[in-house]
Amino acid sequence: MSTAGFNSQNGTGTGQTYTNGPSQNPVALQQPSGVGYSVNHQPAYNQMQAKVLAPPGPALYPSGPYQPVPPGPQVGSYPPAPAQPLLPRPQIGILPSHTPPQSASPSPGPRPAQATPPAQATPPPPAVTSTSYYTGPPAWQYAAPRGPAPNHVNPAAAAPPLMSHSSTQPPGPGAPPTSIHGFTQPGSAPPPMNPLPPHTYQPNRPAYGPPPTMKPTAPPAGPPGTTGTPPPPKADDVAGNGPQAPNSYNHVDNRMAGAAPPGRHLGHYPSLPPGYQNTSAPPPSSLHPALQAATQPYTQGPQPYQQQPGGPGPGPGPGAGPAQLSPSMAAMSLQSSTPEALRVVNLLQERNLLPPAPVPAPTPCLTQDLQKLNCSPEVFRCTLTSIPQTQSVLNKAKLPLGLLLHPFKDLSQLPVVTSSTIVRCRSCRTYINPFVSFLDQRRWKCNLCYRVNDVPEEFMYNPVSRSYGEPHKRPEVQNATIEFIAPSEYMLRPPQPAVYLFVLDVSHNAVETGYLSVFCQSLLDNISALPGDSRTKVGFITFDSTIHFYNLQEGLSQPQMLIVSDIEDIFLPTPDSLLVNLNECKELVQDLLKSLPNLFEKTMETQSALGSALQAAFKLLSPTGGRMSVFQTQLPNLGVGALQSREDPNQRASAKDVQHLSPATDFYKKLALDCSGQQVAVDLFLLSAQYCDLATLGCISRYSAGSVYYYPSYHHQHNPAQVERFQRDLKRYLTRKIGFEAVMRIRCTKGLSIHTFHGNFFVRSTDLLSLPNVNPDAGFAVQMSIEENLDDMQVVSFQAALLYTSSKGERRIRVHTMCLPVVSSLSDVFAGADVQAITGLLACMAVDRSVTSSLSDARDAMTNAAIDSLSSYRQSALTIQQPGLLAPACLRLFPLYILALLKQKAFRTGTSTRLDERVFAMYQLKYQPLAFAMLMIHPALYRLDDLSDEGALNIGEQTIPQPRVLQLSVEKLSREGAFLLDAGLVMYLWIGRNCHQNFLSQVLGVSSYAAVPEKLYLLPELDTAESQRTRAFVSWLRDQRPFFPSLHIIRDESQLKPHFLQNMIEDRTESALSYYEFLLHLQQQISK
Ligand SMILES: [Zn+2]
Repeated sequence: MSTAGFNSQNGTGTGQTYTNGPSQNPVALQQPSGVGYSVNHQPAYNQMQAKVLAPPGPALYPSGPYQPVPPGPQVGSYPPAPAQPLLPRPQIGILPSHTPPQSASPSPGPRPAQATPPAQATPPPPAVTSTSYYTGPPAWQYAAPRGPAPNHVNPAAAAPPLMSHSSTQPPGPGAPPTSIHGFTQPGSAPPPMNPLPPHTYQPNRPAYGPPPTMKPTAPPAGPPGTTGTPPPPKADDVAGNGPQAPNSYNHVDNRMAGAAPPGRHLGHYPSLPPGYQNTSAPPPSSLHPALQAATQPYTQGPQPYQQQPGGPGPGPGPGAGPAQLSPSMAAMSLQSSTPEALRVVNLLQERNLLPPAPVPAPTPCLTQDLQKLNCSPEVFRCTLTSIPQTQSVLNKAKLPLGLLLHPFKDLSQLPVVTSSTIVRCRSCRTYINPFVSFLDQRRWKCNLCYRVNDVPEEFMYNPVSRSYGEPHKRPEVQNATIEFIAPSEYMLRPPQPAVYLFVLDVSHNAVETGYLSVFCQSLLDNISALPGDSRTKVGFITFDSTIHFYNLQEGLSQPQMLIVSDIEDIFLPTPDSLLVNLNECKELVQDLLKSLPNLFEKTMETQSALGSALQAAFKLLSPTGGRMSVFQTQLPNLGVGALQSREDPNQRASAKDVQHLSPATDFYKKLALDCSGQQVAVDLFLLSAQYCDLATLGCISRYSAGSVYYYPSYHHQHNPAQVERFQRDLKRYLTRKIGFEAVMRIRCTKGLSIHTFHGNFFVRSTDLLSLPNVNPDAGFAVQMSIEENLDDMQVVSFQAALLYTSSKGERRIRVHTMCLPVVSSLSDVFAGADVQAITGLLACMAVDRSVTSSLSDARDAMTNAAIDSLSSYRQSALTIQQPGLLAPACLRLFPLYILALLKQKAFRTGTSTRLDERVFAMYQLKYQPLAFAMLMIHPALYRLDDLSDEGALNIGEQTIPQPRVLQLSVEKLSREGAFLLDAGLVMYLWIGRNCHQNFLSQVLGVSSYAAVPEKLYLLPELDTAESQRTRAFVSWLRDQRPFFPSLHIIRDESQLKPHFLQNMIEDRTESALSYYEFLLHLQQQISK
């Protein structure tokens, strides 16, 4: 009985039964305790397991044996490409090229990547999809074959918005092209009377868009039989995309695994020629000997770096005079109209590539009018800001095409529209946006599918200007980011209340860490700030070897603890009083929070039945949906979901490949999908000194759209930096905005197609992400391909629509639309490359590759991404050949970022890295919005002992110094200085041994270097200008991000110094190349 009830809620029913509100699900409420839902119950999964995965990576692109690579060439010389055996090579996400003509094949070993075996020219048969995080079964995507996808959507909702004036009929076939109402704006031209190019109604905006074959007179482009009438409703069509693909997998091919052309295998870096083995004297800077030993500075080679006049700078800018022309500049002068993005940079010569301030997002090459309306790059970014016209041009560029989104970002300004009519395309359900065109006042043309739609009467009135007859001035058409308060047709049941359930580890280990009192205090402090309304509910479960529930029902004099020791068959002892209304029971909740830490103070229970606790929590939340916050401090070792340690500490550094990146059991993933089906998201806080198998536990959040927080070595006394981070993170977590029962749909202009999503969610259908919770700190990425040529289009658009229930119970839709130009030439594609977005997307793809194939495979694929794109640039986009390792200016940081990824905790080898920390870094790369992921990949280094107000920001009454960003090399350090390294989640302030006395006393408040404490996590608040400047800068950096980076102030001999030095990406380490060596490696591969 109970199974049927749950099944129907998972989409197996008629679509009408998805009414799991508290009073609407008698089945769930009446089920007898103890015989309820069991996650071991099989039938619900049988159908999905029918899907079979094609064999993963190796079968498709077997990794060949390592090939010794000949020693690197002398700098500046260009050895003939040695014939290299053709070995398969992995490649990230780029389709095999369609064999562009080779301009030069100097050796019998032409770039094998260019030759695509016919067998691979077509995408592999269905069944392989990498839309899921792990190789693991795309079967876990609830395909929709069992009925309409559930999302509380009234089937009627998909009908076009009701028009208040029925006189507006959609033009049928043969309808006159003109407005049937004859309404003309005074002074405006009459509506077009002929079928020639669509007239763009908005006088200030250029005409653009569709192929000219689309004529205003054409009947609305829709499926046959839909002219004049809306398409049949689809249950999830509110955020939906019209008819749903019957089997989404058939349409998603796996670019990453399926279509890699054969090629070289690059397992191996060249050794440096003798002249480059760092034989020169250390730089004159007064480096500490230890630092000099730890890294090797660049040496002067036959082609020394050319320092630009004026010292360190971002390289020669457009303003550099002809007298200082470098060879690359000389080349540029020949390409007279070359934009800055395409300025040729010889990476081997130009040393100072980093701009002084964080790298900004490139601006798409659009007219000013369009660009002004475009979506902020903080929310929506594309790896290529100029979209290639065809897949073959994209293939030639060898750059990944994809979108990076931060859709629920906290925004200071967000237009919100309340309207009974949300105007959407009848055919593809796109929301009206700034990039549609108005044929006249009564009709608009969709910029995604080009269907001509009517303008509803209500839309003719502009609530902002309070004027009539100017639909193009409506806020929906003036803002690329907008939020709608949805009318009732966007919901089937009343929006769910905010429901928060806390699941707390109270084993001996947990109590030892001291986290419980921090948690309880933090919740006490913020309980009134929990997002919600009068309906908000809370509940608590604690667990060790047994599960403890808390009866908090109104009227009790104190909370009642109920212990369930039968963890094999978990049941809810008093189902109605465990989740209680926060307003009505606040005192009991506060009593509980005050007494919890003491309750388990003396516990000796070491076991952890996390799996059973999660099952209990799922049961408790199922009827309503909501948020489950799980705090865990050890490897679960009892009952369902028990795990065993899989990490061998001795293998952390030496293993050639890293094992156990995929889950040990699918228990947590299955449970997460159950949660997702009931609109429950699980956030995991892992606080532990020991291995906890995050690769397995993390699945509980990964597939339920939760977040993962990790505090390695958390201890209330021994690790105050972690404690502070935990406190700050908790405050943000408890009080940040939250959206419930959300779905996100990403649409793009016809011809483009989306595949492979990255982030935490569950893919419900081809382009619909299920997000039981959405939070403002979550990022997403998707990969795209070009299915049809975009020949006649000048621009294309992308739209992300996020439908969610606010904590106040409103159904809302946040819509972001981005418009990008289409280009035909390879040079233009390169000119629009967004190197950070490319890096971020490659990182996501490499995480997948690490799990589905191997870490070394992922590393090779990243290196190849740099080799391939620069090689393609050299061969196909450069008009004038010249020596060196050449990159367009917009990609000049690409090799550096790739090297940074190879040295990042997620992907590094040869350095001792705890498995959980590696897995956490992988999670972060997939989940963090790009701006924060970039800090993890390429941290920022600043000198802090000479901060000045020059160029400072003034925010309010505060002056925020803006020191320049330094290269990540010990060359940039000096013993007299103090340097801040900002690596996203963590900051290090390194104090040089001879640090200026002024900094020591005025900022650190100590008399001498020796007096700097061994462990220091706080900048003292001193009443000096230096202290204020330094603190203002550090706080400002922290305020830029939603999480709290801990700060370690370290002396030169600190134990943490190796962590600091590991971030010096440009330097050589025992196991990894320096940046310069890496460039030589790339050059060698490219000139083959
Ligand atoms: Zn459309």
